[in-house]
Order: sequence, then structure tokens, then C-alpha cells
Amino acid sequence: MESFDIQKDLENGLKNKEFQVYLQPKFDCRTEKMVGAEALVRRVTNGILVMPDSFISFYEQAGIITYLDNFVLEEVCKLLQKWQESGKYCYVSVNESAKHLSNKNHGIEVMKILNHYKVSPHFIELEVTESAIIHDMELAKKAEERMHELGFIISMDDFGVGYSSFSVLKNIPIDVLKIDKIFLEGLLNKRRFQIILESIIDMAHKLRMITVMEGVENKEEVEYLKEIGCDVLQGYYFDKPLPVQEFEKKYIYHS
Ligand code: C2E
Ligand code: CA
Ligand code: CA
Repeated sequence: MESFDIQKDLENGLKNKEFQVYLQPKFDCRTEKMVGAEALVRRVTNGILVMPDSFISFYEQAGIITYLDNFVLEEVCKLLQKWQESGKYCYVSVNESAKHLSNKNHGIEVMKILNHYKVSPHFIELEVTESAIIHDMELAKKAEERMHELGFIISMDDFGVGYSSFSVLKNIPIDVLKIDKIFLEGLLNKRRFQIILESIIDMAHKLRMITVMEGVENKEEVEYLKEIGCDVLQGYYFDKPLPVQEFEKKYIYHS
């Protein structure tokens, strides 16, 4: 598709309310209590559920992902406001595309949305991938510092899959290290893999970062991650990304 068509496609999707936010809960590793959630976007076109991997990159390439990310952020703010009004507190993470980093007004635009819903940035975690950051480290450093100063929690998503993860850690103010699910592949049988993962968690703690393991799918992984002191877990073992109403029923308004 031409970038004009992609823009029209996104506009139509937003206008027709085809985009929906799903929430996947995250759990404290020790207590297994829900501590937060990640917002993951879906599109429902003609009754068919479309996953983000098949549209995000088109919008990114066309330079229009901000519209979708701001929509997701706004939906999350609406929920946080509603929950907080009934005394329920939970933090939610949103995925931040690389494109935001080059927009100097990003912080201002985002704060406008938060202020409108009277939501504090302390309840919002921004998940940024390494590939977004290494594209222009200086730009990313300034952008993340700005967001950090505003009070957002900064999380590095997909840690360990790229080539520059460690140089990113050296340069960017990161609060949360979200370790990529590839680290779980074959982990339980390979001591080498375990040493690497244990070292990453140890390093993250020494740097005062919270560690999150994504893609946790079975009890054995949970037990092992408990043993090595990982802080937060997310994955199908606990729950899949859920439509908002289902998430609320299960995790927010349960008795
Ligand atoms: P991500 O940020 O790494 O999100 C994690 C992906 O892993 C999600 O896929 C989630 O559904 C999936 N997942 C969760 N638990 C498990 C598990 O136990 N095992 C396995 N194998 N997978 C698990 P999803 O929802 O299809 O999202 C794919 C990617 O699309 C996300 O990867 C993120 O990069 C991007 N994305 C999703 N929503 C947004 C958004 O609102 N804005 C932007 N910019 N990107 C988004
Ligand atoms: Ca993510
Ligand atoms: Ca991830």
C-alpha cells in the first residue's frame, strides 16, 4: 500500500472504532498477585480479530504510529481514571514506537492526554524497544530523560534480542528491564542459558532496575524464576491478553 492509503486505512480504523485495547496482567513473582498490565492493541475488521504484528510495522514505516499509540494511551487513561475513582490502583504499560523519540513535543502531547483524565504518569510505564533506541542513541537519551522527569516509568522491552542491549543500559535512564521471551527457550535444561539469565537479573538489581520476564508459559519456569529472584512475570501461564471487560471482571472488580 502507498503511504497515503495506509494513512486512510488507519483513519478509517480509528473512525470506525475497529481498534481495541486488550490487557495482559503481570504478576509479582513471589506472591503471584496481579500488579499491573500491558496494553496490547487489536483490530477487529468485519468480525475478524487482527493481531498487531500485521499492522504496526506499516504504520511505523508510514510515520503515523503516533496516532494509534495515542489512541491506546487515551483508552488506558480512561480506564485508570475509572478504576481510581472506585479506589482501584494498578499500573499499565503501553508500547512506545521509535517514532515518538524524534518528536520533541511528544511529552507535551502525552501529558495533555493524562491531564485530561487526571491520571498521574506514575501509573504509566512506557515500554521502548532497544531497536528504537539504538537508531539514534543521543535522541533517545534526551527523549527518555524528558519522559522520566515527567514521572513515567521507563521499561526496556525485548531486552537481549538485539546487539546493543548493554550500551543502551549504559546510556538511558531505565527503571524496568523486560527480558525477552527467547531467554526461556531451552532454559530449564541448559546451565549456560541459566547463568546468562541469572547474571542479567543480578546486574539489573545492582542497577536498581525491576526485572520482568515475559512469555512465561509453565509452572517450572515460574518456580525457577522465583528461585533466581525475578520480580515480575507475564505470560500465558497466568493469563493471555484479555478484552478490557474480561480483565476488569477478573482482576479489578473481583470481590
Ligand atoms: P511485545 O510488546 O513484545 O508484546 C508481547 C507479545 O507476546 C504480545 O503479542 C503478547 O500477546 C505475546 N505473549 C504474551 N504472553 C505470551 C506467552 O506466554 N507466550 C508467547 N509466545 N507470547 C506471549 P501481541 O499482542 O501479538 O503483540 C505483538 C507486538 O506488537 C508487541 O510485542 C508490540 O511490539 C506490538 N504492539 C502491540 N500493541 C502495540 C501498541 O499499542 N503500540 C505499538 N507501537 N506496538 C504495539
Ligand atoms: Ca511490550
Ligand atoms: Ca516484549
